[in-house]
Formats: sequence, C-alpha cells, structure tokens
Amino acid sequence: MEIPIYSSETIAYIESIQKRALFNTFGPAYEDKLAEIFPSTNMFLDHIETQLESEFKDGNDDLKYELEAQLKNKATDEIVNLTKYEFTQHKSILNAAELKFRRSVVDPKYLEQIPCSATLHSFETNAEIHPYPTEDKPTIFFHGELFSANLMFCKLIIQLIQDTKDETGKDHYTSFRIKDDPETLKIVTLNAIYFYNYYYSDISDTCPSYNLSSPFENNILAIFLDSIAFFIYAHETGHAILEHNLSGRGTSIETMQNEEYEADRFAMIHLRNYCGIAKENVLTLLGPIIFFRYHMLRERYVPGLDEVNTHPQTITRLIKYVEWLQSKCHPNDEEIIKNFLQLEERLFTIISTSFERIHTIAP
Ligand SMILES: [Zn+2]
Repeated sequence: MEIPIYSSETIAYIESIQKRALFNTFGPAYEDKLAEIFPSTNMFLDHIETQLESEFKDGNDDLKYELEAQLKNKATDEIVNLTKYEFTQHKSILNAAELKFRRSVVDPKYLEQIPCSATLHSFETNAEIHPYPTEDKPTIFFHGELFSANLMFCKLIIQLIQDTKDETGKDHYTSFRIKDDPETLKIVTLNAIYFYNYYYSDISDTCPSYNLSSPFENNILAIFLDSIAFFIYAHETGHAILEHNLSGRGTSIETMQNEEYEADRFAMIHLRNYCGIAKENVLTLLGPIIFFRYHMLRERYVPGLDEVNTHPQTITRLIKYVEWLQSKCHPNDEEIIKNFLQLEERLFTIISTSFERIHTIAP
C-alpha cells in the first residue's frame, strides 16, 4: 500500500505554511537557524530510529519491519512528500502512522477521505488542521516537537516500571510494578527537571536525551510510541473524515467539545482494529493513556495555553478512553489493564510531584 504522492500545488502550499512557522519561530534568519539545529536534532532522532530497528530484529513483528523498511526506502528515494523544511524522521513517524491507518480503516470509503499531512518545525507540541482545499482535502500539520515530547515523556514514565520477569517467571508485561527505590527516584527526578525545563518552560533550549538501558524498557517504549503516533494521527484524521468544522468559526463550545470526543472515539476504534490486524498485544491500547497524562501536565504547566475553552479537559477524555477500554477489552486482557491503570496513576503522581516542585521554585 502506498501513500499518495501530493501534487506540486499541495507541496508548494505545505512549504509555504512550513516557511511561515519557521519565520515565526526564528525571524528572517530562519534558514541559518535551521542549519544550526538540524545536525544535533537529527542525531537525536537517528538514535530513536536505531532503537526502533533493534526491536524488530527478532522478527516477531513482520508488519512493523516491512513498514519501516518501506519508509526508509521512501525517505531515501524522496518519493515521499518531503520538503526541505521537513524533518525526515518526523515525517517518517507520520508516514508510518498513515500507512498503519490505511491498513486499519474500518470503512473502505475512508481511504478516499484521508487528508494530506505534513510536519511543521516549530517548538509547539500539538497538531492542527488547515481547511485549505488543496486537492479538495484539508491538510493536517503535526508540530515536530509533538513526537519528541511524547518520546521523552514515555521514557520518563517507563523508567519507573519494574521488569518483573525474573521474580514471577511469567510474561513480565502482565504484572506491572513500580520501581520506587531511592536511586531510581533520584534519576527520574533529574530527568523530570530536564523535561520540564525544555518542554514546559523556556528555561532550557537543549533537547534532553536521557536514555533507557534495558531491552524491557526499550520494548515498552517502542510499543507506546507506535500507539501514541497512531492515536494522534487517527484523531486528527477523524476530524477531517467526520467533516467537523475545521475552521472552528460559528461553532458552539459544546459542539467543538463533542467533536473532540468523536475524534477520540474514531481513533480508539481504529487503534483497536490496528491491534487486531497487526496482531499487537494489549499494550498498544495503553499508549493513549500516557498521551492524555502528558497533555494533562501540559494544561497545568504551560503558561497561556488557551485550549481549555474549545477543547474538553483532558481528564474527561482520559476517563472516557479508560471506560471504553475496560468495556471493549478481551477478558484475557482485563488483568493487565487493571494492573497498568493502578501503576500509571502512581507514575503520574510521582512525575507531577517532581514538576510541582520545579514549578514552585522556577520563575
Ligand atoms: Zn481534536
């Protein structure tokens, strides 16, 4: 299955939006600024790629391997719609999500309605839809930091999960437990400071690069990242396919909030379908919970974030997601979901306690 190649008109349109974002971020010298940023950020993202690749070596996930190989070829051949303002790795994540979504559509007519998509290089961590009628379709723009923020937040959380394989002798993904020894808590607190300073305040302009060490941690990371990218992609695509009012003009707050729930539901249904098709395990359905937690902290700590009026509170979206998960899950997965929910609430408390302490001492 191929991702459609966009027309030159669409590429020109995408590039104009990307240039504007760069101009807004860096001013007129944006091209020089980009040259400074690209090498280091690419190294950082190459590292993710290497990690993801190492997870595919054991051959237990042919679909993922095939998709990644396709993407790599596409990226090098420049077949994908890749403008010079787009990060190769961010675009690859996006394309992987689109390919997986295309394979998982619950209604074949959706294939015709999939919007165009592109990345923006800015320091924002969200996605937006532009209802511009290129090829009669809207375009979704994913801000680049959306992916790296989720990557780093997942790492933060995963460092606190204990690998219990040796103790229980059974599948270690089913019995989530917390690592709350003083050494781990010290490391996580330090990493939380990095995360907070970079993503939630302007204190640091250095991208944090704390690493995970064990195959257990890296495995969970790969699954959660895959799941979160899919969920975000499917949510935004849901807005377009469900023909929501993309400009937001003339729409009541209540309608806009309902559209958010509808897009979440659309993404949930497709994520579950993806799990079935790709024979993924239930961990894939847990990624969005981490994403909602990341968002809740963002609402709390990013100054001037003006989403609360048009978007429902993230806590409500999280509750709805968990209710759905519990009502639709396979009976065999009930235990793992229950264990994970208990764990993630504690993880979230530990991380938000760290953030709260930094927040109160930071200017
Ligand atoms: Zn939305």
